[in-house]
Amino acid sequence: MKLVRTIDELTHIVKAWRSEGKIIGLVPTMGWFHQGHLSLMEMARGRADKVVVSLFINPIQFGLGEDLSTYPYDLDRDMQLAEKAGVDLLFAPAAEDIYPVGFQTAVSVKNLTQGLCGASRPDHFGGVATVVAKLFNMVQPHLAIFGEKDYQQLAVIRQMVRDLNFNLEIFGHPIVRESDGLAMSSRNSYLNKEERRHALCLHRSIQYAKEMVEKAGPKLPVVKLTDEVKRIINTTPGCAVDYVEVVDKDTLLPSEYVEKNSMMALAVKINDRVRLIDNTRLDLKESVVPDNK
Ligand code: AMP
Repeated sequence: MKLVRTIDELTHIVKAWRSEGKIIGLVPTMGWFHQGHLSLMEMARGRADKVVVSLFINPIQFGLGEDLSTYPYDLDRDMQLAEKAGVDLLFAPAAEDIYPVGFQTAVSVKNLTQGLCGASRPDHFGGVATVVAKLFNMVQPHLAIFGEKDYQQLAVIRQMVRDLNFNLEIFGHPIVRESDGLAMSSRNSYLNKEERRHALCLHRSIQYAKEMVEKAGPKLPVVKLTDEVKRIINTTPGCAVDYVEVVDKDTLLPSEYVEKNSMMALAVKINDRVRLIDNTRLDLKESVVPDNK
């Protein structure tokens, strides 16, 4: 595996791969790899001849008071893990190269970024879309892989690719979880033992919501569901709801009732310090007969 620190070297290598007819797959990350990241890399390995992983803690997607300065980083550790996952090129640029003095352009995806994480992190998705657009232009991949754990991010990237005519295919990868159900995240490393235990309220909420939907069938009012989930979270020590919403999986607009296309997304703050997100589809069983028939 090659470690590349400059845009010039990156473009040189990927241009050669393209001219040899290689299929290039990209996995954008902020590093501190866990099995979630590694699964995305393995998926890329299965679909591309050359796998590029970017490791860049993108400053413009962090808001004021967020964890930019404390975000975990260990390049040697991540290099070893990426190498084992069969990555061909790890691109770890400096912030000054990605955003040189005078940088002033932004990509903004309007509607999809209004709710969910966008509501409490107003500049976040603009920062994500901008850096991902830059990565697509630098790497020129045939395909790129994003995790469904960051479901809104995946939707935003798909929309950007359609709207700006990027010539690549986007793949989503299912959420990878710890054995007890906690969605893997680099931010889990911030949790102490007790907080780690309490963080299970996210997965517990998801299980509860799925059971409630299965029992209730169609026309379950969303507020009934979200009130219960909020109660589960807010009664867990140290945990506070940032949001719990049921939205359409494509438009991300809030639903009044749980529908066939519904998903639940949630963000939880633990001890006002660590913010974790999770989501799930809330599939109504096909066999359920709507109550107006
Ligand atoms: P990050 O380094 O947190 O920016 O994540 C890089 C990529 O890995 C994003 O596409 C994330 O959605 C994805 N990812 C992170 N955690 C998980 C997980 N537990 N399961 C699946 N994908 C994940």
